[in-house]
Amino acid sequence: MEQNILMPQEHMPYLTLPVRKKDAEPYKVLAKSGQEIHPLKTYLEKAKNIVIVGHNNPDGDAVGSTIGLHLYLKNMGKESRVVFPNRCAQNLLWIDAGNISRNYQEHPREVTEIIERCDLLFVMDFNRLSRAEAMAPLLEKKDVARVMIDHHLEPDLESFVLAFSNTQISSTCEVLYRVIYNELDPSLIDANVGACLYAGISTDTGSFSYSCAHKELFATIADLVDRGLDTVKVHQNIFDNFSESRMRLLGRCLGERLIVKPEYQTAYMFLSEEEMTRYHYRSGDTEGIVNYGLGIAGIRFAAFFTQREDRVRISFRSQGNIDVNVFAKEHFNGGGHKNAAGGLCHESLEATVAKFERLLPGFYEKSIRPDAC
Ligand code: 5GP
Ligand code: MN
Repeated sequence: MEQNILMPQEHMPYLTLPVRKKDAEPYKVLAKSGQEIHPLKTYLEKAKNIVIVGHNNPDGDAVGSTIGLHLYLKNMGKESRVVFPNRCAQNLLWIDAGNISRNYQEHPREVTEIIERCDLLFVMDFNRLSRAEAMAPLLEKKDVARVMIDHHLEPDLESFVLAFSNTQISSTCEVLYRVIYNELDPSLIDANVGACLYAGISTDTGSFSYSCAHKELFATIADLVDRGLDTVKVHQNIFDNFSESRMRLLGRCLGERLIVKPEYQTAYMFLSEEEMTRYHYRSGDTEGIVNYGLGIAGIRFAAFFTQREDRVRISFRSQGNIDVNVFAKEHFNGGGHKNAAGGLCHESLEATVAKFERLLPGFYEKSIRPDAC
């Protein structure tokens, strides 16, 4: 019998089926102990100055979820402002096409005023106020209802009146979709909101290579496509939009700065500040480079060290049960997720890499070797 490669509509019923409420629900809604919980809608109805905050070094999920929420609220007839601690990467600028966001590093006075005026604060894609770095004291000082929408481990619930948090979900953008679906009105999601949400989902899943093995995620995307999302355009805007110097920086990392330790199933790379200057580094240029380590057959743990003024930033990635959140927290003042975490070290680049190399045999025995628990 001839195969019907066009797949008639009845073979694709999910296209007309938005995520069912039952599938979309499981985030926690928690409140500060002793406080009455109001529905999100109630906070929104009362608010006149809504501020949406994303984390330091905003990635695709942070920019997508903040601007996505801003555009969604606009469709609800609500104005809001978006602020970040610092600038996002060049290849994410298109998400904020209306140029409505401000960052604290470049506009400290304006951002301070925006936060001081605010009467409802959304914290997107981070789980504790300290992750807003230089902007954190402003957020801590401001006595205002704070709502968290996030997917990071160990959320600091005490600082929020509502926390929509599920650490099993791919991205904050996917959590946001569920929040809109359950708490608000999904019919107000349009193609622009869809593009923002897809930007966060596709970057936080490494273009659908991890944290994505659940049908609800694909049902969400099917629904967004139904609302006008152009997935090809979003993918090109993010992943085919790097500068030539970023590509050459990647070449430097892979060609000269990659260390592979097959005996520990580990690969790591590092970049000095001098190299970053030489390759015209711009904020966001090192995003995603750590993942190349995991692309090597047999490698299950990858790290990437970048020197910044007085400190070294580290990105960790792992496969399966190898918990890099714990590793980053115990040894490098960091955290994140089980398979993707980051941290900091206030020593030199050489000393930081040497510390990592000293820790590696122990971490291999405890977590990486195939029979480790
Ligand atoms: P990346 O390596 O892409 O910078 O970060 C990977 C993940 O770890 C992200 O979800 C990020 O939010 C989290 N992360 C990165 N750096 C830190 C850190 O210093 N502290 C904590 N708690 N999480 C981090
Ligand atoms: Mn995220």
